[in-house]
Amino acid sequence: MLKFFIMEAQSKNMELTEQKNEKIRLSGLDKNALEDLMETLGEKKFRAGQVFSWLYVKNAKTFDEMSDIKKDLREKLKEIAIITDVKIKTKQISTDGTLKYLLEYKDGNTAECVLMRFDNRANLTACVSSQIGCAMGCKFCATGQRGIIRNLEPYEILEQILTIQRDTGLKVTNVVFMGQGEPFNNYENMMKAIGLINTCLTIGIRRITVSTCGIVPKIYDISNEELVPTLAISLHAPNSELRAQIMPVEKRYNILELKKALQRYSEKTGKRVTLEYVLIGKLNDTKECAAELAHFMKDLKCNVNLIPYNPVEIKNDSGVSFKKPDKKDIMKFKYILEASGKKVTVRLERGADIDAACGQLKGRVEG
Ligand code: SAH
Ligand code: SF4
Repeated sequence: MLKFFIMEAQSKNMELTEQKNEKIRLSGLDKNALEDLMETLGEKKFRAGQVFSWLYVKNAKTFDEMSDIKKDLREKLKEIAIITDVKIKTKQISTDGTLKYLLEYKDGNTAECVLMRFDNRANLTACVSSQIGCAMGCKFCATGQRGIIRNLEPYEILEQILTIQRDTGLKVTNVVFMGQGEPFNNYENMMKAIGLINTCLTIGIRRITVSTCGIVPKIYDISNEELVPTLAISLHAPNSELRAQIMPVEKRYNILELKKALQRYSEKTGKRVTLEYVLIGKLNDTKECAAELAHFMKDLKCNVNLIPYNPVEIKNDSGVSFKKPDKKDIMKFKYILEASGKKVTVRLERGADIDAACGQLKGRVEG
C-alpha cells in the first residue's frame, strides 16, 4: 500500500508524520502546509495557492470543481486526499432565517453551529461550538447539563464555518464562540482555530468574539496574545451570592477577581468587553439587580447585552426556578443600565423554534 505524509495544519512548526493508508484531510491546512504538500507531491508551489483558494474562498465540496487545477493533479489529490471528514447530520431552518447545523465528526460525536442573518444582510454571523458538551454546569444552560465529552480540534472548529459557507454559498463575516462548550477550557485549540479563521477565511480579529463564563487565568493569558479577539463575559448576576446560585464557576473565580481580569484586558488591549446577562424572570431581573449591576460596571470599559432567558429542559436540583422575564421588567432593567451611561442591547431571540437560541444547544438530533 502507498504511504503518505499527513500534515498537521499549524504548519509553522509543522511535523511530518508518516502514516499508512490514511488520506490527507485538506481542510484546516494553511498556505504553508499546502505548499509543503505540493512539494512532497513534486508540484510547483503556486498550486498551493490555487488549492487554498478552492478550499477557503470558493468553498469547494469536490476536487472536480477545482477547474483551474490540471487534471492529473486533481486525480492525484483524489487518490491521496479528502477535503473534509466532517458531515452534516441535520440542518434546520428557523422561521426567522436562522440556520442550525448538527455536524458529525470523524469519531461519531456531534456538535452544532448556527448561522444568524441579521436584517443587515451584509452581516452574517456564525455561532460556533468549542467543545462537545461543557464541564461548567451552569444551572440554566442545556449544554451544561450534558457534562463534557471532549474538546474540539482547531480544524473541527474551522470546519463549522466552512460547512456553512459550502452549504449556503455565502461568506461568513463574523464569528462568535457562543455555541456548545467553554472556549477557555480548550484554550490552545481555540487560539489555533482563531488563527485559521483569521488567515484562511480572512475574517478580521475584531469580528471574532469569544464568550466565557469567566475562567480568570485565561483572561490574563488572552490579553497577552498577538491576535486578541473581542471578549464577551457571561456575568448573569451583579453579586457573588446570586452568581454562585446559578454558576458554579463563581466558587472558583469570583466576580471581583473577574472584574480585575477584565480591567487588565482593557488596559492591555484598549478593547471594550461585552457583559452578557441572561435575564431570568424574578430571579436576577429586578430593579435592585439592575442598580447593583450599574454600580459594578462603573469602573469597567464595557457594554451590556441582555439575553432574555430561553426555556430549556433541565434537571433542576438547585431549588432555583427559571422562567422568562416579563417584557416590562426587561425594559426597566435596560433603562436603569442606560441611565448609568453604558450601551445596552437586548439580544434578539434567534432560532428558538429550532432550539438554536442561546443555551439551547446540546448536540442531539432531537435538538
Ligand atoms: N460557555 C461560554 C459560551 C457559551 S455562550 C459562556 O458561557 O459564555 C452562550 C451564552 O448563552 C452564554 O452567555 C450563556 O450563559 C447563555 N445561555 C446559556 N443558557 C441560556 C438560556 N437558557 N437562555 C439564554 N441564554 C443562555
Ligand atoms: Fe458551559 Fe457556557 Fe453553558 Fe455555562 S453557559 S454550562 S459555561 S456552555
